[in-house]
Amino acid sequence: MIAFYDLQAVNAPHRDAVESAIRRVLDTGPFILGPNVEAFEAAFADLCGADHAVGVASGLDALTLILRGYGIGEGDEVIVPANTFIATVLAVSAVGALPVLVDPDPDTMLITPEIADAAVSPRTRAIIAVHLYGRLCDMSGLRSVARDRRVLLVEDAAQAHGATTPDGERAGSLGDAAAFSFYPTKNLGALGDGGAVTTDDPALATRIRRLRNYGSTTKNVHAVVGANSRLDELQAAVLLTKLPALDVENARRRRIALTYAEAVRGTSISLEPPTGAAHVMHLCVVRTSRRAALCAALDAAEIGWAIHYPVPPHRQDAYRGLEHSPLPVTEALARSVLSVPAHPALGEEETARVAEVLHRVG
Ligand SMILES: *Cc1c(COP(=O)(O)O)cnc(C)c1O
Repeated sequence: MIAFYDLQAVNAPHRDAVESAIRRVLDTGPFILGPNVEAFEAAFADLCGADHAVGVASGLDALTLILRGYGIGEGDEVIVPANTFIATVLAVSAVGALPVLVDPDPDTMLITPEIADAAVSPRTRAIIAVHLYGRLCDMSGLRSVARDRRVLLVEDAAQAHGATTPDGERAGSLGDAAAFSFYPTKNLGALGDGGAVTTDDPALATRIRRLRNYGSTTKNVHAVVGANSRLDELQAAVLLTKLPALDVENARRRRIALTYAEAVRGTSISLEPPTGAAHVMHLCVVRTSRRAALCAALDAAEIGWAIHYPVPPHRQDAYRGLEHSPLPVTEALARSVLSVPAHPALGEEETARVAEVLHRVG
């Protein structure tokens, strides 16, 4: 059996170092807001090329706290691609703003500068660029739109840790602020929930540090109505241990995807090969009009698969009643996308087995 994702195998190379890191936290404490969170924030900001990183409890909280930190709320609109994990949309709802769902570009499956520009209204406060599946959006184009239209540009980088533009700039440094998730299966995964905000904006960083800790940066002084949304010391210690391997693991994901892209060349299955380091292949997503047949063949070969995402946010009960423009691209993608195993611990032989099925069914 080839699992779609193998947590144990992915974490196996880190196991000894992670165990020592956990033991150090147990031996020395503290467990909340201590030296590991501080060290991880510094290392992660450095990796992203951002001035500040603030550890928070999850990717959803990272997005929500960015919007709150910028004072976005009731009466405001935030532009969000419709083909995303629902958390991107939930963050907008959490602050009381209106999510304005837009259809992505059908080729890249990403929001583009033109799409974002066309959705701006006088109420728009921000555009959220989701680097979906690990592929960077056209951030220089989106920055121009945001500048011209005087709106904020937020990266949802929950799937894009380490993604790098041809100019060497990283996800997390390409907008006004970025949200990361360290959910266990992300490219940089904790042993539980975790997240971070990166930004060059010192005022935003300060506000988020307050908001994540009951509105306080000094004990017993509560400047604003905050939340409890902290990255804890154990998770920070684990992440600090795993961080140095991120680029190597991302490169491994890309090599697997290249093998698959080669296997489906000239078939009815489409898979765009990764475009250099601007794609970190969080998910290796193929598109096919014969998805049921491909799933059946993968099942028969005992190969795991998943769909990201079978039901888009606007088709969920949670968003019944949300007004939106027609979203034909998002709907078509929900019917045709299929994610195949591409985690960094997938071996050569396993990769070849998956490639064989893709080639045969395609
Ligand atoms: C995982 C994910 C999130 C949410 O992160 P959590 O840590 O699970 O809250 C947000 N956006 C995208 C695109 C994601 O993939």
